[in-house]
Amino acid sequence: MAVRATVSRFPIDSDALEASGLPWGLTVTPFASKDETGIGPAYGSNGHILPRCENCYAYFNTYCELDQWAWTCSLCGTLNGLPSDAIARYSYPHDSIPEMSSSFVDLELPLDGSEEEMTQARPVYVAAIDLSSSEEFLELTKSALLAALEALSPGSLFGLATFSHKIGLYDVQGPIPVVKNVFIPPDAESKLPLELEDAMPLLQFLAPVETCKDRIAAALETLRPITSWERSSGAAQGIDGVLMGGRGLGTAMEALFNYLGSEFGNTFALARVFAFISGPPDYGRGQLDTSRYGEQYASKRVDADRALLPEQTPFYKDLATIAVQSGVCVDLFAVTNEYTDLASLKFLSIESGGSLFLYSSTDDSTLPQDMFRMLNRPYAFNCVLRLRTSTEFKPLHSYGHFFPDPQYENLQHIICCDSYATYAYDFDFANNTGFSRHSREPPVVQIAFQYTVVVPPEGLQNSELPSSNRGKHLLQRRLRIRTMQFETAQNINEIYDSVDPEVVLSLLVHKVILVSLEDGVREGRALLHDWLVILTAQYNDAYNLVQYKNGNKSMSSQIDITFSQCPQLEPLPRLVFALLRNPLLRFHEEGVHPDYRIYLQCLFSVLEPSSLHCGIYPSLVSYSTPDKQAYPRHSLSRAALITSGSPIFFLDAYTTLIVFYTSAADPSLPFPPPQDCLLRKNINMVKQGRSITPKLMFIREGKDDATAFENYLIEEQDVDGSGFASARGFVSFLDDVSQSVAEYMK
Ligand SMILES: [Zn+2]
Repeated sequence: MAVRATVSRFPIDSDALEASGLPWGLTVTPFASKDETGIGPAYGSNGHILPRCENCYAYFNTYCELDQWAWTCSLCGTLNGLPSDAIARYSYPHDSIPEMSSSFVDLELPLDGSEEEMTQARPVYVAAIDLSSSEEFLELTKSALLAALEALSPGSLFGLATFSHKIGLYDVQGPIPVVKNVFIPPDAESKLPLELEDAMPLLQFLAPVETCKDRIAAALETLRPITSWERSSGAAQGIDGVLMGGRGLGTAMEALFNYLGSEFGNTFALARVFAFISGPPDYGRGQLDTSRYGEQYASKRVDADRALLPEQTPFYKDLATIAVQSGVCVDLFAVTNEYTDLASLKFLSIESGGSLFLYSSTDDSTLPQDMFRMLNRPYAFNCVLRLRTSTEFKPLHSYGHFFPDPQYENLQHIICCDSYATYAYDFDFANNTGFSRHSREPPVVQIAFQYTVVVPPEGLQNSELPSSNRGKHLLQRRLRIRTMQFETAQNINEIYDSVDPEVVLSLLVHKVILVSLEDGVREGRALLHDWLVILTAQYNDAYNLVQYKNGNKSMSSQIDITFSQCPQLEPLPRLVFALLRNPLLRFHEEGVHPDYRIYLQCLFSVLEPSSLHCGIYPSLVSYSTPDKQAYPRHSLSRAALITSGSPIFFLDAYTTLIVFYTSAADPSLPFPPPQDCLLRKNINMVKQGRSITPKLMFIREGKDDATAFENYLIEEQDVDGSGFASARGFVSFLDDVSQSVAEYMK
C-alpha cells in the first residue's frame, strides 16, 4: 500500500490551508505490494483479533501507547482496555508480532460462512466477441485471447461467447466445438426469448482451461464476421427492409451476467468478462444514438465537449450494478475509430471494477500484450477501503473507481483492483480549532483495506490443508492496514517546502475531470487556470515579493511566477500548462475525439502520481549514443532539444514511447537502437513496470514523419490551441497568468 500526501506537513487550521492555495489530501494505492518507499508490510494472521478502538474503530497500531492492560488510540486518544488474549500476545518480544513491529501490516482473516463454503472457487473468464465487425478485428481478438489462454492459471474456467443480432455460446468440452445461438429482439425493450441457461447449461459453457485450450483455440478459428445477408435473414430487418445494425452488446451483456450469476458464490467468487467491441451498440437493449456526435461536430456553436461527455442513457450504469450483483467484473476492449460513445459505455467497466481500453486501429494495437499483462498480475477483489483520521480533520471527497457504501460514510467498495489502481482523498478540518499549535499529538491517517485474493495451488504454503484441497485454488481474505503520522507546519513556508507536486497534480486531475464531466471542458480549464492564479498570488503574498505602491503599473513584473523561492512548487506552472495542452482538456475543435477523452479520463483517474506525471508532462531523456545517456531530463521544447546538441532522445508519455534521432545524428549510429544497448534496456524497464503496454515508435528526423514526436514538444504551443504554434507558448502562458495574478492581488 503506497500512500503519498500533497503536503507532508499539514496546515495547522483552515486559515492556513486557505492561505496556502494548495489542495490537502493524499493518494493511496492499496494493493501495491510495497509502500511508497519500497518497504513491504509485516505479514501475519488473525487479523480479526487485532484490537480496535471502542470510540473511533481504528485498529491498534505502533503509534498507540501501550500499557500492560490498556492502550491509547493514536487517532482519537481514547483509552481502551486490552482483551485478555492480546495481553498475553503483547507480552512476547515485539518483533514477532506484526502490529507491534510495523505501522504497515497485512494480516490473514478467517473466511466468513458463505466464503468458507466456496474456498475452492475457481477463477472464471468469459470472452464476449463482437461479430458485427471485420476480419481484422477478429484476428486481433483471437491473438489477444490466445495470449490470455497462456496467462490463465490451471484450474481456471473459460467461456467463449459471441454477439451480433444473436448471442452465440460455445461448448468446447466435446470432441468438436458446438455453438448454440439465441436471437436478440431488435428493439430496445424486449428481453431475450430464451434464457441462456436453457440454450446451454452454464457448466457446459465454462470449460477447464488446462484440458480444453486446444479446442478453445479451434473454436476461435471458426469465428467469422456476420454478413449483411445473415443480418437481413435474421431478425435485424427493420421497416421497409432497412438494415437496423447488428451489435446487440447491451442485451448480450445483460443475458451473460444473469447466466453467470447462478454460479456466483458457488463455482466462482469473481468472474471476469472481456467484452470486445468494434463500434457502438446499435441493436437490442442499450442501443446508443451516435448521431449526436455528427450533430455536435457540425455545429461548433454548442460546447461540444459538454454535450458529448455525459452518458446518454443510464442503461450501462444499471447494467454494471447487475454485473456486480452477479459477481462479474467487465473489461471493455474497444477497437475502433468510429464514434462509440464510451461516455455511456464506460460505466460497465469502471463501476464493475474492470478496465476500459481503446485502440483506434487494429494495425498498431497492443491489445494482446495488454491482455497478457492484465491477466498475469495479481488482483484483489471484494475490497473494502476505509480511511480514518485523527479527530481534528476528516476526509472530504474521495476520487477513483469505487462504489461508496450506501450506509457508512468514507467507506468505499472496490469490486476488483490490481497493484496499480490508485484512489485519492482530500481533507478538511473537523472544526475551527484545527491542530493545536503546541500539541504533542501529531495528525494521523489510518487506511484499512480488506480484500480477497485467489491463491493458486502452487502459491499455497500452508501444509496443514487437507490433502483433498491440494492442487486447487483457494480464497484468502486479508486485512491490510497502514497507519501514518504527519507533522504540522508552523508557517506557510514549511507547508510549501513539504509539497509533493505529483500528488498535487493527481488531485487537480481528479477535480478537473469531475468539473468537465459536469460543466464541460471549458469550465475544467477555467478552474485549473484560476487555481494556478490563486496559488501564485498566495505564494507571492507569503514571501512578500510584491511591493504595493500607489499607481504601480509594473506590479505584474514583480510577480514571481516561477516559484523561484520554493523548489517544491517550481514544477507546478509547467504541469498546469501541460495539463491544459493534454487531450484531456483540449477543445473538441482541436480534433480531440470524445471517446479518446473518455478513455484518458478513465486511465488518468486510476494512475498513481508518478505515472500520471509522465502522462501529463512526458519525460524526455537524451543520449549521445544508444549506450550512453547524455541528460536525464529536458523540458518539452524544441529550443531545449536544439541547444542540448544530443543526437538521440527518448520520450516517455506513459501510453507512448518515442525514440527520436535528430537530423544531426551521426549516420553511423545504429537505427533502430540495437537490442542489447542501454537505451533498449531502459525502454524494456519502462515497459515492464507499466499497467498498460505503451506503444513504441522509432523516428528519424528528416526521414520519417516526425509529427507524433513534435506534438509532444508542447512548450512552444499556444495553451488554448487557438493561435499558431509560436515560440511564445509556455512563456506567454506565464505572462498571462502573472497578469491575472496582479489583477487578483489588487
Ligand atoms: Zn480511536
